[in-house]
Formats: sequence, C-alpha cells, structure tokens
Amino acid sequence: MSPELPQRHTVRSDKALYDYVMELKGTHLRNAGQINRVAFDSRLHITRNALGMHTSKSQVHGAKLKAKREIHVATIFKDMPLEFLRMIVVHELSHVKESEHNKAFYKLCCNMEPDYHQLEFNLRAYLTYLETAGKPLWSPAQHGSSNN
Ligand SMILES: [Zn+2]
Repeated sequence: MSPELPQRHTVRSDKALYDYVMELKGTHLRNAGQINRVAFDSRLHITRNALGMHTSKSQVHGAKLKAKREIHVATIFKDMPLEFLRMIVVHELSHVKESEHNKAFYKLCCNMEPDYHQLEFNLRAYLTYLETAGKPLWSPAQHGSSNN
C-alpha cells in the first residue's frame, strides 16, 4: 500500500458527525436554517446518486408549521478519507440553502471547499472502482494496528 494513502478519519459516530457538520455550518453558512438531526445512515447505499440525503419535513408544531431538517450521510463514509466525508457534508449542507444542483448550489460548495469539484471527481472515480473491483482501499481491518 502506498504510504501516501490518507489515514482514516475520526468522525465515527452520529455525535461526531453532527459536530463536524455544525463546525462547517458555523464557519460558512451561519445564516442558513437550523439543522435538527445529522446521522450516518446504513440504508444509503453506494449508488452514485444517493451518498447523502437531506430532508426537510414540515411538521405541525403547536400552532405553527415548523420545518425539520435532517442530513444523512451513507455509513460507508466512515471508512473513507476525511476529504470525501467533507465533500459529501459540504454537498448536503449546500442543499439546506439551495435545493437544486444549479450554479448557486455549486458556488456554495466551492465556497466551503475550494477543491469541491476535484473531490467529487475523485469520489466518483473511487466508487466506480468499488463497483468493478469491489475491494475497499480503506477498510477498518487495514488500520487495525495503526496508532499514529
Ligand atoms: Zn445533491
């Protein structure tokens, strides 16, 4: 294995993911609406179009209609480099403000992560590799004895 392969990141629980999302949001999207829940989701599978998910449900809250926003990230991102997790979080966070994949949406993405397009390209290449070769480059087993 190449020594340049990045280390597995430490965002491994829903709580850690929530904190990570909130840190990015606080830095770049402070005025965006509140996010009620952030979670890893094992039901999201690695198809190229469903790596993350954002939902915005309207709920009757007392007399008011209240939007409840959730961000779900496919569990597979636990075992990927932080750059890929960051890319998907940036993507889903941008959807809080912009629901379409339009110019304004990608501007938000690039504002949070200047290498957004390169990372998305790399991620898609990796997913294509996974579909054909099937063997993850980053898996928990390979890092079992690593302690740096
Ligand atoms: Zn999207």
